Amino acid sequence: MGLQRYREKRDFRATPEPRGGKRALVSARRRFVIQKHAARRLHYDFRLELDGVLKSWAVPQGPSLELGDKRLAVEVEDHPFDYASFEGIIPEKQYGAGNVIVWDCGVYSPDEGQQYSFSNRAEAEERVRTELANGNLSFFLRGEKLKGSFALVRTTSDPRQWLLLKHKDRFANTGDVLSYNHSLLSGAVLDELTATPE
Ligand code: MN
Repeated sequence: MGLQRYREKRDFRATPEPRGGKRALVSARRRFVIQKHAARRLHYDFRLELDGVLKSWAVPQGPSLELGDKRLAVEVEDHPFDYASFEGIIPEKQYGAGNVIVWDCGVYSPDEGQQYSFSNRAEAEERVRTELANGNLSFFLRGEKLKGSFALVRTTSDPRQWLLLKHKDRFANTGDVLSYNHSLLSGAVLDELTATPE
């Protein structure tokens, strides 16, 4: 997909969001990030690093660790890799206007049963690409708030609509993980953000 759609939607003279570099950045391990975003409607942005960009889904209800919960995840445009550390205020009248915090982040790997034997980066990424193309990705998150095995499953009714769900493992539980509402970066909750001077 690339970053064209991402850039077309935004005016980088007006928004503090990163434009993204010409060259793709690659981290040593595959990163994931979840941002809590008080846009017109509050939602969580779920992002997985792949091929130098962040594959992105908007999750209106946010993720859940509870078995059986299926959270709608709407596929959106790829975001630049450096968006993973973006936290701030998107000004009024700009695309996605509202406050953004980094709610969770960490690394992920494709699932292979309960074993994580992808020592080869290229092999692991090929697995993720293939499963995304097939509309059924199993992956393991190592975050601060979210841990364990999850799946993203594309619905048959609309190719942009996926379901985010928890697999059964020792990290599944019925607690309300969304009640941990502080930013991993700053410790702020959403409405505590203040505009930073230019
Ligand atoms: Mn968003």
